[in-house]
Amino acid sequence: MSESYAFIGLGHLGGNLAASLIRNGFAITVFDRDPAAVERLVTLGATAANSPAEAAARAGNAITCLPSPKISEAVLAGPGGLLEGLPKGGTWIEMSTNGRDEIMRLAALASAEGVETLECPVTGGVHLAAVGKITALVGGDAALYERHRAAIEAMCARSFLMGPIGSAAVIKVITNMLAFIHLVAAGEALMLAKQGGLDLAQSYHAIVASSGNSFVHETESQLVLNGSYDIGFTMDLALKDLGFALGMGKDFGVPLELASRVNAIFEQGKAAYGGGAWSTQIVKLLEDAVGTDLRAPGFPARLEI
Ligand code: NAD
Repeated sequence: MSESYAFIGLGHLGGNLAASLIRNGFAITVFDRDPAAVERLVTLGATAANSPAEAAARAGNAITCLPSPKISEAVLAGPGGLLEGLPKGGTWIEMSTNGRDEIMRLAALASAEGVETLECPVTGGVHLAAVGKITALVGGDAALYERHRAAIEAMCARSFLMGPIGSAAVIKVITNMLAFIHLVAAGEALMLAKQGGLDLAQSYHAIVASSGNSFVHETESQLVLNGSYDIGFTMDLALKDLGFALGMGKDFGVPLELASRVNAIFEQGKAAYGGGAWSTQIVKLLEDAVGTDLRAPGFPARLEI
């Protein structure tokens, strides 16, 4: 018999992950503090609950996809939280991006109540989550991973068991650090092309076929060229992840010159456009500084598969 799940946090990412579970035949009970987000999932076939505790008690296992460790802690261990509803032997699967220390601390809180934790942050972006093809980075016990593998594979095309709790947080923060560095680099590259008098669409395609290509250029540069910047991921979330990366640099004794510079650039981006602006809009800092934009015809407002 397949496991059933509560799903808490139905935003840009979580809403798509929860929809993938439903599409693959899982019965899920959902909660979000935003009623509109709950309604979208109920329309797809989810059952609504009035609190994380109620959802967890009905399902026996719980998945979270929330914006910050502070909110994850409140949803897990606060009043009306998951630990009030999950049975002993139930599992908490944390799909939010966390720091290593944070997830280890929260897993210890769950363990004290007889609840096991699997950390399962994902990478690839909202457009891949929408079609169940995002990548999962898993930390935790191998048998627990096997127990929940069907659900993970319903949401994610590939999953990598990285080691014990905390190890998925490390690789997730590493890959996002790379993505933000690549994003700023892709913006500088396109601006050089524009100011050098090149056709931007042709430059985009030439870079895709070159040694300077990256996943971020292939995907996010299209949103820059369109002008929507709509990646479904905010400046605030980018700064959260860069903060984790810089913290790991200190903890592990690794100087992170590029990540430090990119963090400062994102601080400027937040000051200029707000923390709720799409992270891809970081490239607009350069557009504003140079006094020209990076638009080209033929690129989508949102990424499509
Ligand atoms: P989001 O802000 O779109 O969604 C968060 C959801 O949590 C919202 O629906 C909000 O209403 C809900 N929420 C907030 N506080 C709550 C509470 N106390 N109780 C119940 N619900 C609450 O964020 P997102 O982009 O979906 O990101 C979620 C997590 O996934 C973050 O940790 C982020 O770093 C990570 N992530 C996002 C992406 C992406 O592309 N968006 C990719 C990888 C990882």
